[in-house]
Amino acid sequence: MSVSQFQIDHHGHRSHTCGELRSAHIGQTTVLKGWVDSRRDLGGLVFIDLRDRYGITQIVFNPQENPAAAKLAESLRFEFVISVRGKVVAREVEAKNLELPTSAVEVEAQDMIIPNTSEPLPFMVSSHEAKQTNASDDLRLKYRYLDLRRNELKENVLLRHRVYQAVRAFYDSENFVEVETPVLMKSTPEGARDYLVPSRVHPGKFFALPQSPQTYKQILMVAGFDRYFQIVKCFRDEDLRADRQPEFTQIDVEMTFATEELIYKTAEGMLAGIWKAVKGVDLELPFPRMSYDAAMKTYGSDKPDLRFDMKLHDLSEAFKGSGFRVFDSALETGGAIVGMVIPGWGDTGRGKLDKLDKDIVRAKLGGGGLFHIKLPADGSGIQSSVKEEVLASSYVERAVAACGASTGDLVLIMVGESPKVFGQMGSLRLHMATELELISDSADGPWKFLWVTDFPLLEYDEEAGRFHAMHHPFTSPAAADMALLGTDPGAVRAQAYDIVLNGMEIGGGSIRIHRADVQQMMFDALGIGKEEAQSRFGFLLDAFKYGAPPHGGIAFGLDRMVMILAGASSLRDVIVFPKTQSAQEPMVQSPDIVDAHQLKELHIQLLEKSPSAK
Ligand code: ASP
Repeated sequence: MSVSQFQIDHHGHRSHTCGELRSAHIGQTTVLKGWVDSRRDLGGLVFIDLRDRYGITQIVFNPQENPAAAKLAESLRFEFVISVRGKVVAREVEAKNLELPTSAVEVEAQDMIIPNTSEPLPFMVSSHEAKQTNASDDLRLKYRYLDLRRNELKENVLLRHRVYQAVRAFYDSENFVEVETPVLMKSTPEGARDYLVPSRVHPGKFFALPQSPQTYKQILMVAGFDRYFQIVKCFRDEDLRADRQPEFTQIDVEMTFATEELIYKTAEGMLAGIWKAVKGVDLELPFPRMSYDAAMKTYGSDKPDLRFDMKLHDLSEAFKGSGFRVFDSALETGGAIVGMVIPGWGDTGRGKLDKLDKDIVRAKLGGGGLFHIKLPADGSGIQSSVKEEVLASSYVERAVAACGASTGDLVLIMVGESPKVFGQMGSLRLHMATELELISDSADGPWKFLWVTDFPLLEYDEEAGRFHAMHHPFTSPAAADMALLGTDPGAVRAQAYDIVLNGMEIGGGSIRIHRADVQQMMFDALGIGKEEAQSRFGFLLDAFKYGAPPHGGIAFGLDRMVMILAGASSLRDVIVFPKTQSAQEPMVQSPDIVDAHQLKELHIQLLEKSPSAK
């Protein structure tokens, strides 16, 4: 029989999956179907590792017992699709295979069908290969269906599935209603560009794909569905970074009569549910909390990584009046001097510190320069990078005391505008943690969750000369700061919070504005006039007039969460068909040009610079 012949599958359905057979099945006849993961020829026998989604089972072809099947087995290559009927027998377990749950048995093939062959592969997908492939990203994305056969990606897809189920189970048990909101909608301001969809029947008009279902979920609260959730695709057209995708998935949640406490408690319950279901881990609840101000001052970041300590210390007070010009002038203009202790680095050589200053602080972080104080391990005293004549040792000693450094430590110091210098020091903290190998991206934790609270409501955009909403314009000011909205908008705190895990923001939300007059005040602060507010968000302002209850919510970045749970280093490894850095999908090759008549129907004419239509 030739492989190229079309064969009728007389085996019928599989009787077991490739991950199912155990010693208890010995003696039974089985039908297995799957892909040829590998083939070995040994002592006249042909051994096949047969793979499907569930696992791998060894098939043995014996020319003495079943010459026809054995002959056919010689034609098998990687990724041929086969159906095998045979007998389950005990297998002499080789030590290296002990990790396979099916390794106690093998199947003696009696009969085989080959429904399809495979061309030589562009890269190996066999489970015998290393966990990580060395195929290029482009190749992996072009042949994504092969990449997804690799164990690593397959496990990520299955893990993601378990996360969906845990999310649904939790919210269902807590009386939340799963609702789908429209994908063809109107712009929701979440700070990115919109993906637009032209309307054929309304020339010149466009739908926007949701940057989030924010306004719809709030309207659902007005409609009386007091607990809503949705696992939802969101779209943001922004410049891609390693941890961003133009379309991504959120777990979107909204609750009526919500307080921040209720949101925290419910979110913690959901996250605990996921970690229990996926990792079998009981998360320690409640999660710690820290205000935005404290996070910026202590870690130089609004998403501090708490897997390691290395806090920042404001040394401005310690150096006040030191007479050292660089420090004095920074402090006079409202700047700050910030220090950080690097344990065990008290004897670091000049070259290494110069390199840190030049290559990292100046080149990457845009800092003005690095000062340091060494406390050598031999206890020989304190050595400052600024000479005694210029900066008296009493000030250096005060700084050492202020940041709690001791023998063997190094103190790194940066000076500059505040709060910028805290941010730069925060980035240096992360750099040093990597250098000191304090962070392990393991799928087994540790899991350092943190609520960051009390965000500012607005941030000033120097370039545009006006305020932007730090979260989005529907976020409620803190009750105590409401009066400041008209007078000192920059000082208003928001009832907004982020949830951070291992230094990554995995979610964020707020208590919302639920009154039309307050919403209008917010639009005023943002420089959105009455007319613009009415044309963009009139529906929401109208809805607020008809008994809109107080409400609030949160959304979690599902992709990022799965990435952390999987111990993966890229979002692409947890999304089945992701986009590249340049926002393309190499397998189907999207985006693509379209027919001229299609453009015409949409009333669209391309500018000359654009690639012409087909
Ligand atoms: N819509 C917000 C976001 O996408 C989340 C929220 O406020 O619930 O970031």
